Amino acid sequence: MIWDVIIIGAGAAGMMCAAQAGQRGRRVLLIDHYHKLGEKIRISGGGRCNFTNIHTRPENFLSNNPHFCRSALARYTPQNFISLVQRHRIKYHEKTLGQLFCDDSAQQIIDMLKSECDRGGVQWRQPCKVQAVAREGERFVVQTENEALQTKSLVIATGGLSVPKIGASPFGYRIAEQFGLKVVPPRPALVPLTFAPEALAQYGDLSGLSIDAEVSCNSGQFRENILLTHRGVSGPAILQISSYWNGADFITIDLLPGLDAEQWLLGHQSSRAQLNNALAEVLPKRFAQQWCEAHDAVKPLNQFSNKALREIAQGLHQWHIKPSGTLGYNKAEVTLGGVDTDGLSSKTMEAKTVPGLYFVGEVVDVTGHLGGFNFQWAWASGYAAGQVV
Ligand SMILES: Cc1cc2nc3c(=O)[nH]c(=O)nc-3n(C[C@H](O)[C@H](O)[C@H](O)COP(=O)(O)OP(=O)(O)OC[C@H]3O[C@@H](n4cnc5c(N)ncnc54)[C@H](O)[C@@H]3O)c2cc1C
Repeated sequence: MIWDVIIIGAGAAGMMCAAQAGQRGRRVLLIDHYHKLGEKIRISGGGRCNFTNIHTRPENFLSNNPHFCRSALARYTPQNFISLVQRHRIKYHEKTLGQLFCDDSAQQIIDMLKSECDRGGVQWRQPCKVQAVAREGERFVVQTENEALQTKSLVIATGGLSVPKIGASPFGYRIAEQFGLKVVPPRPALVPLTFAPEALAQYGDLSGLSIDAEVSCNSGQFRENILLTHRGVSGPAILQISSYWNGADFITIDLLPGLDAEQWLLGHQSSRAQLNNALAEVLPKRFAQQWCEAHDAVKPLNQFSNKALREIAQGLHQWHIKPSGTLGYNKAEVTLGGVDTDGLSSKTMEAKTVPGLYFVGEVVDVTGHLGGFNFQWAWASGYAAGQVV
């Protein structure tokens, strides 16, 4: 038999694509090598799956071609996914900044996608390893460990490299290369950053402490919490900025966003209080202490000159840190880079030079900010291909 569509990777994008194609009457087979279904969805959003963001805009995505995501995102919006969630009577709430989470469990999203696939008569091979893919005439032959399967359309939905222990693999990149498509080098993103030994000695024992800050690096800027850890820094603002960090840059942290630190310090200049004790009014006390020690500034405020206070203020608004690295793919939520969008149609996700071959979801060089954007890309790109395969 010849399948209309074989989809490799039964994650967020693969299941969305399969459900759409199946419900259009196509004969669809989904293949996944991992023994559990939708594992990345299950662990997402702390077990409650931040399944979309109501403020989704193309600006929330990184890619070598920032316009590539526009078409798919416009044709399958957060509201489309919310309607699906509502139809399945899944209760949800907005946590913060437009992020929608399940009230109960991420498993509900997996069950919903599975039931949408069932409605489309989608067939499964899972767990099942794919050994090779070849093109024969206008068809593709997918050689699994058990059989050779033939299909008219082949969709690659194998995701990125993050969290290899639950099934992530570079399979999609290898298939792209096999068919002559370029791959933007992948790297971990939405990932905690590590401190070099010197900074770790200064701040490593503050693990668990969080600060509302504005973090910037290259073209990225985010106002959210940073979290000190025993390895370096994390928290939403750091995860966000990790996607803009190229491995060598400094990251700038405004520790007092919204406060004019110079005015504030000059206003306290006659005080006999130690600088760190005064700063404990606006920063966590232990952090203020260690930041002042690291900046050789542990003395009473009235012993600082105006110039010195101005420098302290600038240091607080522009705390430059140079991470030594990231915690890597084991702790990264997503992978930056992937199949180069130059080789794909932004309307259908089909490879321009290989008719019938599609790439959807995180395997493509489109990476969302933290906050439900990555799933929205998975739904939208899976939907785009699902309409045409
Ligand atoms: C801890 C964590 C929390 C997250 N939380 C959120 C969140 O709350 N909101 C959000 O928007 N995003 C979140 N993300 C990101 C989000 O999970 C992904 O961007 C999204 O799942 C990508 O969908 P996908 O279908 O492209 O890939 P995946 O969902 O990763 O699915 C890929 C599938 O392909 C299979 N596969 C891989 N290689 C092969 C192979 N060789 N053969 C066969 N099958 C293969 C895998 O087993 C997997 O089932 C989180 C990620 C992590 C790691």
